[in-house]
Amino acid sequence: MIRVGVNGYGTIGKRVADAVAAQADMELVGVTKASPDYGVETASRRGYDLYAAVEDRTDRFAAAGVDLAGTLGDLLDAVDVIVDCAPSGVGERNAPVYEAHDTPAVFQGGEDAAVADASFNARGRFEAARGADSVRVVSCNTTALSRLLAPLDETFGVEKARVTLVRRGGDPNETDRGPINDIVPDPATVPSHHGPDVNEILPDVAVDTAALKAPVTAMHTHSVNVTLATEPDPAAVRDLLAGESRIFLIPEAAGIDGAGALKDYAADAGRPRGDLWENCVWEESISVTGRDLYLFQNVHQEADVVPENVDAVRALATDVDAAESVARTNETLGVGL
Ligand code: NAD
Repeated sequence: MIRVGVNGYGTIGKRVADAVAAQADMELVGVTKASPDYGVETASRRGYDLYAAVEDRTDRFAAAGVDLAGTLGDLLDAVDVIVDCAPSGVGERNAPVYEAHDTPAVFQGGEDAAVADASFNARGRFEAARGADSVRVVSCNTTALSRLLAPLDETFGVEKARVTLVRRGGDPNETDRGPINDIVPDPATVPSHHGPDVNEILPDVAVDTAALKAPVTAMHTHSVNVTLATEPDPAAVRDLLAGESRIFLIPEAAGIDGAGALKDYAADAGRPRGDLWENCVWEESISVTGRDLYLFQNVHQEADVVPENVDAVRALATDVDAAESVARTNETLGVGL
């Protein structure tokens, strides 16, 4: 049994906690909170033990009548792996604390690659975690691009990938984010950081990315163009992507035309929080001109990294191989629409 703690119970942390708790080979020892907000109540309802993320804030929890099982240090001493789900940049500040407790750590994509021994994606770079003390699960966009480009490169060879990312302005609960009424290049320079980040997972794949931010909260959209080394049959591309367990090929007949319908489908399918763990590729968008492949995919930013975090824990703490770990994670969560 792998004993796991989650440090930071926000958008990613609460999902990772649920996913870890669902694994037969893992025990969720507890989660930390930085303040006694509504997350405290919902974590308690799920039966999760609560720890204070910041030692000198325990009085805030006492004042709110919240019972704590301890502080972050206590949690670190009780687990085999800590999953850091603190805000971007805070993970880097937490790293020395994990090291001091000799606790292997999984970081998130908001941190620089240098925060961990290796960057991680189950499809593209599972073995990198072997023997490591820490890994960084790459960001939602990098995760989705790695899942897509790895099989394309293995099967057809990627000469050059060019991706335009239309990113959601903020998550649904981030009322202070934007833009409200515009679509802005972010950054205005090319390439955006996403391409180099993909190279942390797939170092030999040439990829340029350009990014915009749009006034939406549900999902990111990628417009993908890949020049392949060989001229592919569109049906072969469709079959290849259909065979990838964390890619959902949206059938044309489903009448799903965007993020709204995708999220509606996920909620109706009984997905927790309406989560879509898979890349969502519009099947009819898969087009081939010579060696150029085009397609559109949507990425649920709050969800696609969640199965990757579960696999990262297994990769750090066991000798289970990638195929077995992915199969276990997919089975327990219900990945695959
Ligand atoms: P979030 O703000 O929703 O959650 C972070 C949580 O950490 C909050 O509950 C906050 O109170 C808590 N926190 C604050 N200070 C802390 C501390 N010192 N120690 C521990 N916890 C602390 O953020 P998020 O969206 O869940 O992002 C977490 C990480 O995941 C970031 O690196 C982010 O870049 C990455 N990520 C986010 C998304 C996304 O779309 N939200 C997608 C992929 C990766």
